[in-house]
Amino acid sequence: MSAMRHLLDLCKRRGFLFQSAEIHGGLRGAYDYGPLGVELKRNVSQEWWNSMVYQRSDVVGIDTAIITPPAVLKTSGHVDQFTDEMVDSRLSKERFRPDKAPALKLDDHHPQGLILPISAPDKITAKVWEHDIRTQFARGAAITRKGKEILLQVERMEKDKIVLKKDDRATITTLDPTDLHIPYHGYVDPNSNSPFLTESRPFNLMFKTYLDPIDPIDKVITTTLDAQKTPSTSDLTSTRQLVDKTLHPSLTYLRPETAQGVFINYATVQRSHPHLKIPFGIAQIGKSFRNEIRLEHAIFRTPEFEQMELEFFVAPWQAEEQFESWRKFRMDWWRYYGRNHDRIRERPHAQDELAHYSSGCVDVEYLFPWGWGEVEGIANRGDFDLSKHSEATGIKLQYTDAILMQERQAREKATGVKETDVEALARERFTPHVVESSCGLNRAMLALMLDAMEVVDERGKAIPFEGSEGDNNNTNTENTTVHVSKGVRTIMRLHPRLAPVKVGIMPLISNNKDLVEMCTGISQSLRQELQVNVSMETQSTTIGKRYYRMDEIGTPWCVTVDFESLQDRMVTIRERDTGEQRRVSVDEVVDLVRNGLRLVPRATQNKQQKTISV
Ligand code: ATP
Repeated sequence: MSAMRHLLDLCKRRGFLFQSAEIHGGLRGAYDYGPLGVELKRNVSQEWWNSMVYQRSDVVGIDTAIITPPAVLKTSGHVDQFTDEMVDSRLSKERFRPDKAPALKLDDHHPQGLILPISAPDKITAKVWEHDIRTQFARGAAITRKGKEILLQVERMEKDKIVLKKDDRATITTLDPTDLHIPYHGYVDPNSNSPFLTESRPFNLMFKTYLDPIDPIDKVITTTLDAQKTPSTSDLTSTRQLVDKTLHPSLTYLRPETAQGVFINYATVQRSHPHLKIPFGIAQIGKSFRNEIRLEHAIFRTPEFEQMELEFFVAPWQAEEQFESWRKFRMDWWRYYGRNHDRIRERPHAQDELAHYSSGCVDVEYLFPWGWGEVEGIANRGDFDLSKHSEATGIKLQYTDAILMQERQAREKATGVKETDVEALARERFTPHVVESSCGLNRAMLALMLDAMEVVDERGKAIPFEGSEGDNNNTNTENTTVHVSKGVRTIMRLHPRLAPVKVGIMPLISNNKDLVEMCTGISQSLRQELQVNVSMETQSTTIGKRYYRMDEIGTPWCVTVDFESLQDRMVTIRERDTGEQRRVSVDEVVDLVRNGLRLVPRATQNKQQKTISV
């Protein structure tokens, strides 16, 4: 079973993640977080907030509206430029992003020579596709079909085209030789390896919505019908312009990122918090929406997702140093909560990937089962955002160094001479530059779960996942499948602070009133004193099975109450990562858990589970 399938099965079975609206047939890309998922997600976002806001004196938080007026997103460039290129596969009609699509795969070991294999989902579809290729996309080409695979013989590859071999038996007399020249731009349909594609075209990712009690479709119909009555407005472009004009007063967008809410509040936050001196940051966690061309890998890419973003405002001359320091800070965060440090890396953007205003950007990437994928972007954005909003509104979004200003004013008063040194004045008042850290909460959660998940055999020995899963234009083939057999079980080695349940409390005999009563007491103390999520495990299965159930959801500690506990008030505490069991006084439990949850370097990192006899 693949790592991703294994995780998604576990998520569904144990209540981390459900397909949304499943009882109504589901909605692609929409997920609901179950009782454990919601805890894990809250913990990840809380750890982010702790490190970005509570543990620093230079960052404050904010929570801004999701529904955003067009002026904000026009100014930020999203209305005109927040586009991805989109391509349609002419065979499958699937849409995809060419920048994420794989390169063509050819088989050069085939007895028929160089072969371009196209994989259909099933045999019937393969027949239909073969017919489409023969009659529309490559008339006269040498084609064979083997089950779900359509095999095209390739004459040669040129820089921007694939030249297919002609079928010598073809009876087509009207064949144009260019029918066998297939344009190639470096990518193919990710699912089928088909090079039969439409031209790429830009697609704006923002969701529009209309704040209006009148159904916008009624307005569209009325405006269109009116436009058709006059010849000068009846063409498509003029009608579209009239429709846009009619809808514009009520047009709004669902924000595609949380960052703009921070930029437009730069001045209000600064005025309300005058103690904030540059450099300082504003953090926000919230939902963002993108009409993604291709939804993929469960919660990795969804239309609705949460972002954890920090905009750190700095003086222009501090930007470079602050960018470097945030890179390090964020990588340290990832390494602290992740176990496999070789699966997390920084990827600096190449010059041609950078936004025109950005002078540096790195993606933090995790090695997912299908290859490296971005989990966070850290960028040195210059003064682009504040300058643009300032230009559009006429409101100065600047920072004034009050001390420098007072000192200058005092000097001017003393000397009677107005100072005009441009450089000195620019250090006193300037438009701040921004260093941004933008992390996807759902993606972070997926990465941290995959990172924590370990499958072990009956002796507790880790079983590696084998083989590669999918192809995301990544050459790196991680081990991703494992054979699940009897005795094999999963341990979610989540950092204790992320674990959805901190302690599993279990009476040795689940229906014994005295044992249950003592368990309830322990659980109450933990809930009240530490405000943590604990779970009373009173199923009538063996303690061993109950421990394994707790391991599977990442619970770092289990506490077992047995008959001796009633006499000596000693209980067994078991650690998930080592399997170690100790007898401790019931009065120590809260302190042990409190200590275990303190922010200290992971002691048990990468340790293997020991075999335990229970
Ligand atoms: P990608 O290249 O994967 O589309 P991006 O570069 O567009 O990502 P950013 O705009 O930098 O992403 O957004 C910051 C973070 O938000 C990403 O690193 C990712 O973790 C998260 N994110 C972006 N789009 C999505 C999405 N559709 N679903 C889930 N998380 C997302």
